[in-house]
Amino acid sequence: MKNKPVIIRSPGAMTRWSAGLKGTLGFVPTLGALHEGHESLIKRARRENDVVAVSVFVNPLQFTPEGFKKYPRNLAADAKTVGAAGAAVIFAPSAERMYPAGFQSQIILPPLFGALKRQKLEWHYRGVLQVVLKLIQIVLPDRVYFGLKDPHQLALIERMAADFNLPVEIRRCPTVRERNGLARSSRNTLLTAEERAAAPVIYQALRAAQKALRGGETPARAMRALERTLVAEPLARLEYAEIVDPATFASLRRGAREALVYAAVWLGEKRLADNIRFRLK
Ligand code: AMP
Repeated sequence: MKNKPVIIRSPGAMTRWSAGLKGTLGFVPTLGALHEGHESLIKRARRENDVVAVSVFVNPLQFTPEGFKKYPRNLAADAKTVGAAGAAVIFAPSAERMYPAGFQSQIILPPLFGALKRQKLEWHYRGVLQVVLKLIQIVLPDRVYFGLKDPHQLALIERMAADFNLPVEIRRCPTVRERNGLARSSRNTLLTAEERAAAPVIYQALRAAQKALRGGETPARAMRALERTLVAEPLARLEYAEIVDPATFASLRRGAREALVYAAVWLGEKRLADNIRFRLK
């Protein structure tokens, strides 16, 4: 371990620590159970800032009760990863400290993404925005790092930061994958051996759609290529997929320059999401 990060649990102490800092502060918000994807965000934050803070907080507002219970937690292992990647601080508050009795305010999502309506996940994204706004106010960073692995989340956060003049820069980071294409995810640790072996089919399905689009096929036919690839894997069940313009999340138009292909897939009881974005010409 390069250095042992300080673990701060109270929002007040976190803000006091940041307020006393000299130099720039990079911030990586996470749910914990850290992996190579998070590590790449922390290392980039380290390269671009004098000091880095990482938050580890399983935010109840963005989970179903069942998902919240099952989410993997391992702060001791996370502290090692964070230290090795060069961050100085872990902010790991309890839910009670983040949402004390009396907490009421809500963020209303912008009517930006038809995609959110289609996914029926407004409640989840509202929870994400609320916690990110709170974390930014508490941690007081100069730059905040997010993964392109969660494209809707990232776009909403960029919108919120611009709309509310948050005094931070939002930085986008590419998705880190295993050699077989599977996107690194904390949820991968929950998969059985069979599900893990089946999981790369998600990336293969995204690539099948990409190949179809680049070969001049329509988005509808590209979607069928994605579905065909997934159907061939009996352990996988497609919940939702979309082929959209990454700037607007609207359906891909003829002549678009860039595409985003996104899929949310169930393997047993575990929901994995992945996406790729690429130029069409
Ligand atoms: P999470 O702990 O899943 O909320 O992720 C924390 C941050 O890490 C988010 O900005 C994610 O988009 C990002 N992230 C998660 N998985 C990956 C990955 N495989 N590659 C790059 N970034 C990731």
